[in-house]
Parts: sequence; structure tokens; C-alpha cells
Amino acid sequence: MSQQEKSPPIVAALGGTAEPPVSGTTVDILPRVFREAVAQADIAISITDVAANILYVNPAFERVTGYTAVEAVGRNQSALSAKATPASVYGDLWRQIRAGAPWSGRLVNRRRDGGEYLADLMITPVLDAEGRIGNYLGIHRDVTEMHRLECQVNNQKALIESVVDSAPVAIALLDGEDCVVLDNHEYKKLMGDLGMTEPASVILDAVRADLGHGLGAARDGAQAFADREIRVDRPGGKPPRWFSCTGTWVRSVDEGADAFFGRQDSLYLLLIAREITQQRAQQEKARMAALQALMAEENRVSSLRESLSAALFQIEGPLNVLSSVVAMQDRRGRQDPTSDALTAALRAGQQVLETLRRAIPERSDETAAPTNVNELLRDVLDLSTARLLAAGVTVNWKPQAVLPAVQGHPIGLRAMFKALVDNALEAMNTKGWQTRELTVVTRSLLGAVEVCVEDSGPGIAPELHLKVFEPFFSTRAGAGHHAGTGLATAQQVVADHGGMIGIETATTGGCRMRVVLPTRRAEP
Ligand code: FAD
Repeated sequence: MSQQEKSPPIVAALGGTAEPPVSGTTVDILPRVFREAVAQADIAISITDVAANILYVNPAFERVTGYTAVEAVGRNQSALSAKATPASVYGDLWRQIRAGAPWSGRLVNRRRDGGEYLADLMITPVLDAEGRIGNYLGIHRDVTEMHRLECQVNNQKALIESVVDSAPVAIALLDGEDCVVLDNHEYKKLMGDLGMTEPASVILDAVRADLGHGLGAARDGAQAFADREIRVDRPGGKPPRWFSCTGTWVRSVDEGADAFFGRQDSLYLLLIAREITQQRAQQEKARMAALQALMAEENRVSSLRESLSAALFQIEGPLNVLSSVVAMQDRRGRQDPTSDALTAALRAGQQVLETLRRAIPERSDETAAPTNVNELLRDVLDLSTARLLAAGVTVNWKPQAVLPAVQGHPIGLRAMFKALVDNALEAMNTKGWQTRELTVVTRSLLGAVEVCVEDSGPGIAPELHLKVFEPFFSTRAGAGHHAGTGLATAQQVVADHGGMIGIETATTGGCRMRVVLPTRRAEP
């Protein structure tokens, strides 16, 4: 059967021999319009019989393949095959189009001059009046360049991904809601190590709290923050980990169709966290040694202050009595011969008091600085390790991973927490006391940081919960332990920071000291 016999209507319609329309109705002009539209379409169009023998090609087909219409008509479409497309693709193509369904896919074609190109082809079966496949309509375009660009993009993406994945720093890309949209291998490892679902948002919160203001105006390529050192505390005996963090704003083109013309780019934050725990550990060692010396000196000074204050307190009582007696005698006109001696004794006593008062060491005038309370508590626990071990005390260290900084005096605060830990240790370290557990918990409240130091000792009777903060009151004063100024001083330190301190009874019956420190101090 010849091609003409197989598909006469198409050849008649597209072969250029059609008569011009007689009248001007739409129906009359349609065949001409179709013919011209197909001929002028800027995409390669071919029409074949059911065996893929070409019956018609348009000028765009001639341009893409290099075959003229005369050369193409009568050939099989397989003339375009570069023999590089797997047989399974052709098998699939034929199965589908013979079933009357359109097929689209990519094939490797060869032009008349032998050059290969990648064709994006769509074949549509054309049904006759009886619903039988009479012809196939093939539409294809050369997508070699597009494919090359696609491959280039994919290669670059794979390359960037492997570089990012093998980078020895944690990398995460966050959207406007602090949700991680992209991360690397090291970041995933960090999630596992820290037991957190999203370390990036914890780190960002810490950076924000550290900066005190927001991350600043977001601008493509601008750094939101650079080299901010963030400390992440972990529960139990695990040492804290340190990260040097940098955030950079990056722009991403919106991929949605609605943004095609009205481009709405989004800004993402690229977070890079480099672990610096090891470097920090070296510095920490040196810092701890210096701290130990400083704390020892502080201890010495504060016990001296405590002893002198206690002596002052004790001398003040009898001197007040003496002063009243002398005042009484003065009113009576000093007839008593002992009056002068009493007055001299009073003066001498007052001089001693003054000398003692001057001998009390001044408190160091520390400047306030952003202070990490977790770090102070960790210092205190590290400094007390030997004594806690010797007393057989189990320590439950439960810090909030990242705490906002408190504007405070680190030396004073550290000494205050040390006094609380010392008290707890002392309470449990009595002969025969079985449960010896010290629990230290930190967490952030709205605009404040809360610290609970809880022991499993005998506790303090509720009626004494306020009294223990009075100077020189001690539940153990009789045992000769100390003068009882520790909690009074602690209260003073907390008050100086605009915070509050209180005692609660722990579930174990022991004592829970609760300290709340505001993160920002009210202006005086
Ligand atoms: P072939 O021996 O022709 O066939 C390869 C596989 O296709 C075999 O497994 C066979 O089972 C199946 N097959 C072939 N012909 C038929 C058929 N008539 N009925 C059922 N199954 C069949 N190919 C290209 O490479 N580039 C093109 O641009 C292209 N455009 C096409 C446009 C149209 C409208 C149509 C209908 C087909 C087109 N083809 C095109 C497919 C082409 O006809 C060939 O099937 C293909 O080129 C493979 O040719 P071949 O000589 O390598 O293998």
C-alpha cells in the first residue's frame, strides 16, 4: 500500500494543493489556517502513517533535522535514530501509541549531517472517523543545550552537596521561621550528639540573646553575625561543647509559578557552626587554675569578713549597754566615782569597734558583664568535685542546653552559688546520713534565668525559711561551723542583681534553694 493510499486526507490537507476557501466562514478558512499554523510553527512537526513512514514535515522539522521535506517524506522516522536510545524506550513508545495513547520522552537523534542531538518528542495517535489509528503526529524540539545546562546544574549541585557534606563544620540553611530547609552531614551528627531535634534554632536563640538585639536587617550576602562563641551545656557529667557560629543571609528565588513574573525572593539564613570545644578546653584548664586561686583568696577574705563582722556584732551588744549606763550617769550629773572609768571604757570599746570595722575587707567592685549562669554553676561543681566525691554525694547536673546571659557580676554570683552548694553539701555530710544527692537545674523563664540547688539532706523547717536569711543566724551555729552569714550574703548578691532567692522543701524532704535572676537589669 502506498503512502498516498494510506493517508490521503493529510496529504490533501497539508500538501499545499488545497484550494483557497470559497466563502469567508470560519469552517471554510479552517483547513488553510491549520495548514499555515502547522507550516509556520516554530517546532518540528511530522505526520506519519501507522508504520512511522513520514507523510509530512514542516519547515521547522527541516531546520532541526537538516532533511528537506522532499528528502524526509517517504522515509521512516527511524532515519532520525542515532542508535543510542535503548530498545526498551522504543518498545515503550510503540506499546503506548499503538494503544492509542500519546507518548512523550527523550530520544537521541541524528541529523542529516551526522550530528547528534537530544530530541524532546511527543507522539499523538490521530484517530479516523471509525476510531482507528490512521496516523501519528510527532512534535519534537532539540533540547541538547537545555539538557547540557540541566546536567551542569545537577553536577554542580552534586558537587556542592558533597563539598558541603564533607565540610568539617555543621551547616544549616534556615527559613524565616527558623526551620532547617537544608543541612549537611556534620549538622545531622550534631543533632544525634546533642540529642536535639533542631540544634540550629537553639544556637540561634543563644546568639539572639547574646546580641541583645535582633539579627539586624536581612540583606543578601550580609553577615547576620560572625564568630559568636556559643556554649551548649549537656546534662549529666558530660562537658559543655563550644561552637563558633557565623550567620549569613542568602537569597533564594521563589520557585512557584505565581512568582514567575512578580519575583518574590526569600531570604534564608546560612548558619555555620564550627566546634571549638578542644581549643576551649585548653583555655578552660588555665581558667580553672586561675579560678581556683581566686576562689581560695575570695574564701579567705570572706571568712575574715565573716569573723570580723561576727566579732563586731558580739562587741556591739555589751558596748550598747555600757553606752546606756554612761548616758544615764551623765543625766544624773556623774556623782558616781566609776563614771569616768566607764566613759573611758566606752570610748576604748568604740575605738576598738571602729578599728575592727576598718579592718573588714571591702567587697571587690566588679563591673557587670553578660554572664552565663550555666558556666558559673559548672565552675562551682568542678571546684567542689573533690569534696562532693569525698562525701559520696551524687550530682545531678541538669542545665538548660543554652541559657540567655545574665547582666551580672560573675565573681559575686559564683561565690553565691558556691555558698549554696557548700550549704547543701554540709547538710548532707552528717554521720549516718544515707541519701546524698545534689541536683542543680537551670532553665530560662520569661526575661529571667532560674537556678535550683536541691539537696537530699534534712531540710530546713518551714518556720525558719525566712529566718535563715538573717545575718548571724545559723541552724548549725552551735556546732561551731560558721557564723551564719552565708545566706544573708547570698541574698544581698541576688538583690544586687535585681533577682530573688527563696527556700522550698524538696520532695526528698531536703532543701531547694531557688534563685531567679533577670536577664536584663532594670535601669536604676
Ligand atoms: P526498529 O527496528 O524500528 O524498532 C525498535 C523497537 O520499536 C522494536 O522493539 C519494535 O518492537 C518497536 N517498533 C518499531 N516499529 C514498530 C511498529 N510499527 N509497531 C510496533 N512496534 C514497533 N525514533 C527516533 O529515533 N527519533 C525520532 O525522532 C522518532 N520520531 C518518531 C515520530 C513518530 C510520529 C513515530 C510514530 C515514531 C518515531 N520514532 C522516532 C520511532 C521510530 O519509528 C523507530 O521506532 C525508532 O527510531 C527505532 O528505530 P530502529 O530502526 O532503531 O528500530
